[in-house]
Amino acid sequence: MTVLNSVASTLPVPERDRTAWIVSQRPPRATVDPSKPYGFFLEQERAASGRIVSSACILLTNKECPWRCLMCDLWQHTLTQPTPLGAIPRQIDHALAQFGSAPEQLKLYNAGSFFDVAAIPPADYGAIADRISFARHVIVESHPRLVGERTRRFGDLLSGSLEVAMGLETVHPRVLPRLNKKFSLDDFARAADFLSRNNIGIRAFILVKPPFLREAEAVEWAVKSAEFAFACGASAVSLIPTRPGNGALDRLVQTGEFSPPRLETLEQALDAVVALKRGRGLGDTWNLECFSSCAVCFPRRRRRLEATNLAQEVQPPTECEGNCSGVGQTSGLPVHGASGSVSLGAPQRRARDPANWQTGGLPHVLT
Ligand code: SF4
Ligand SMILES: [Zn+2]
Repeated sequence: MTVLNSVASTLPVPERDRTAWIVSQRPPRATVDPSKPYGFFLEQERAASGRIVSSACILLTNKECPWRCLMCDLWQHTLTQPTPLGAIPRQIDHALAQFGSAPEQLKLYNAGSFFDVAAIPPADYGAIADRISFARHVIVESHPRLVGERTRRFGDLLSGSLEVAMGLETVHPRVLPRLNKKFSLDDFARAADFLSRNNIGIRAFILVKPPFLREAEAVEWAVKSAEFAFACGASAVSLIPTRPGNGALDRLVQTGEFSPPRLETLEQALDAVVALKRGRGLGDTWNLECFSSCAVCFPRRRRRLEATNLAQEVQPPTECEGNCSGVGQTSGLPVHGASGSVSLGAPQRRARDPANWQTGGLPHVLT
């Protein structure tokens, strides 16, 4: 457990004015249309029951999240003004019209917090619930500090069950504050307790190798973070390899305070979390190729991760006749990942094929 103390004094992220510094590093924002989601796709996921269910994910276009986390790039596909009333139900209609079937599970991910009133107007909760009454299980995302009465109210409107995904990121005591998440582990535990008491499911997003951690520490802290999430009542943790591309992380790449994890590190973290047998461990396979340096074994490594996600059993290791060490190196693609579930198509196909990936923008990370 060693933070990069040797470079701490030269950090480009100021302890004060951290938010302003993060914003100042940003590349340009994408143009988005409030009448359309910025993405949607079908996938399969292992449910808490152990069944493999059909799942749809709609990436809603809405006002930017009020926080400014160091590693976040979700703001790129958000509005700068409050989301107009009625826009979210229209976006859901748009996506559902093209799915052609009613998936059992539905993720409404909104690049922020579903319970942020500027992002999702509470006056739209009823219209949203009406449109998704087919779903037996609905998952939304939220910052822990926005979990509360609105969460319960929305859950009461649904026909199926509700689950809230929260970005825990890491429990590392010196890294979490520097991510600018502006919550404590107590805040996370309190939100989880509220959800549990209201029979609302919990999922946690965990970063594999966040900034300021060495590669050798990444698995240990991903597992510690998963253990904390499970202890708080999470039934699933999504392990998201940390990617550059939002400006701030690219700056930290230059200064040596961040490098994306190797593919092998993600594999080891997922294996270790699945082996805990305390809940589902789901490895994010979005744009996984950017963590690999070996074209020979990469397809098998991706299939292995997908198989682990679905089976929740550690799979046999991947041998490489190309004699690589199994260690990947990122190309630093500015694309962030999804939920740790398994897509019906390969991620890059989904991203490029409008039949599978209906979007005007890039995929996203959920944290
Ligand atoms: S990581 Fe989550 S909480 Fe942080 S700025 Fe991005 S959307 Fe908001
Ligand atoms: Zn190889």
